[in-house]
Amino acid sequence: MDYKDLTKTYSALEKTTKRLEKTAAIAELLKKTPKKELSIILPLLEGRIFPKWDQRELGVASRIVLKSMNIASGISAVKIEDMWKKAGDLGDVAESIFSKKEQSTLFSSKLDIKKVFENFQNLALLEGQGTVDRKVKLIAELLTSAEPLEAKYITRTVLQDLRIGVGEGSLRDAIVWAYFGEKIGIIYNKEENDINLDEEKRKLYNRYSDAVQNAYDMLNQFSEVAEIAKDSGLEGLNKVKLKVNTPINLMLFKKAEDIEDAFERVGSPAAIEYKYDGFRLEIHKKDNKIKLFTRRLEDVSRQFPDVIRYIKENIDADSFILDAEIIGIDRRTGKYKPFQDISQRIKRKYNIEQMAKDIPVMVNIFDAILVNKKDLIKTPFQQRRKQIEDITNPAEFRIAIAEQIITDDLEKANEFYQKALSLGNEGIMVKNLEAPYKPGSRVGYGVKVKPTMETLDLVITGAEWGEGKRANWLSSFIISCKDNGEFKEIGRVGTGIKEKGTEGITFEQLTKMLKPLITKEKAKHVDVKPKIVIEVDYEEIQASPTYSSGFALRFPRLVRLRQDKPLEEVSDLKQIKEFYRSQRQRNR
Ligand code: AMP
Repeated sequence: MDYKDLTKTYSALEKTTKRLEKTAAIAELLKKTPKKELSIILPLLEGRIFPKWDQRELGVASRIVLKSMNIASGISAVKIEDMWKKAGDLGDVAESIFSKKEQSTLFSSKLDIKKVFENFQNLALLEGQGTVDRKVKLIAELLTSAEPLEAKYITRTVLQDLRIGVGEGSLRDAIVWAYFGEKIGIIYNKEENDINLDEEKRKLYNRYSDAVQNAYDMLNQFSEVAEIAKDSGLEGLNKVKLKVNTPINLMLFKKAEDIEDAFERVGSPAAIEYKYDGFRLEIHKKDNKIKLFTRRLEDVSRQFPDVIRYIKENIDADSFILDAEIIGIDRRTGKYKPFQDISQRIKRKYNIEQMAKDIPVMVNIFDAILVNKKDLIKTPFQQRRKQIEDITNPAEFRIAIAEQIITDDLEKANEFYQKALSLGNEGIMVKNLEAPYKPGSRVGYGVKVKPTMETLDLVITGAEWGEGKRANWLSSFIISCKDNGEFKEIGRVGTGIKEKGTEGITFEQLTKMLKPLITKEKAKHVDVKPKIVIEVDYEEIQASPTYSSGFALRFPRLVRLRQDKPLEEVSDLKQIKEFYRSQRQRNR
């Protein structure tokens, strides 16, 4: 396929914010793509060159791209930089530069996606002396043959900033439309922006879409999922197996109000475990080699040689995929360390062994997804737990099986919960004994229970216009606390606000209230006069350089409008610091 065909799709995707229109455009492209090119087209649609869990990076800074543009166009780097300052986006600059180029030098050869992809991949392979010059050459080679639109997207891809608004959901749906669209009877009506599915078709749609999602949760590469869908349809997708060393999307948990609610949701008796306040780790072993992935699928094997040793020494199985939480620990006292400490270890590239000594961690294993080649996804939780017990030799402050009780007794459960908190855990997990392991979903086979924080009263000081069907509404609100007579930002909230006005506050109402208060508008962003006070619920206060208060709220949610509250009663930064500290104390 010509790269030009892909850039036409990019351009169509960039021009619309409508999710269905995007899906239709991607599906059209997929239908035209031969099987052997899916492994190029799908990553490029995500703006990726390597799978999510692959640590290779292109390592291309704007300087490198500027130089390549200079070589390919003959226009001085100073002039290009000037244009860049005005336009704000190097991709747009590339498009305009290459449309001005003399016809005679234009398009010396057609760009094929394979060639483009190869050059992108080669960027990541370069190392050592002369790397920068060789990277410049690889990009300039592509730009020399590029048409304006191609130049734009080559530039954006190497800078890892494609900005065409394609998320995982659109790609999953596009695979359904492309390969099962006819079977389901999907016909996209652009005018109505709808695919008009009746109940029957909707059911069928969901079946295919679940199958695609399930396969993706295990493979984490859309290209592989698309190849299977194209080649062997639903049956093929349903046969997808776990692969050791390919990280899966881990199972997620819902939140319960309290222990009673937890029992109601998962059934009783249930397994109750400590909810360790650390870092989730997916542990793979095959051929005597161990690999570690984070919840976001980054490969952190190099960062945790100590964890690899504990696992090698204390887990007795030839192959496995385990789900665990690592947590910082003081080995003299046995006390947990704050979460921030181990998060330093995740990004660390040098002096790793020293870091492992300074910030020791312990591994708490709480689930087994595969053991000795046997896929345990459909095995009930209680038996999976038994598997962990069979293969693990706990070693003090190094490796443990998650602390667990099985009970249907509220009092016993509560005792366990209080003990968990007093030891510095975040709370407890309550899990259904019979449930399978469901990768990637917040299915509610397990729920978390943790103390709720006091709500905050915050004032709205900014907002952003929405997209798609929310285009006429302000849809994301910047919230601020009070600090010595000033307002300091502490986060953004978009949750807890309704689209329709039967219950609770709607986007439309908030927009009406805020519009007269707008003091400044820049692109999608508006500043508003502090006037509207809202009550905000959240899961945790985190230290964060992103907002001027120095803190951010995790999972903020609007509870209600507090028009009764004067600005003087907006939560004070001092009080927030206090909450932050007490939350940390509890977690120590
Ligand atoms: P949350 O991040 O609040 O959705 O809570 C779920 C997280 O708790 C998981 O992603 C794990 O990182 C962590 N966790 C700690 N202990 C356990 C446990 N015993 N079982 C499951 N998850 C746990």
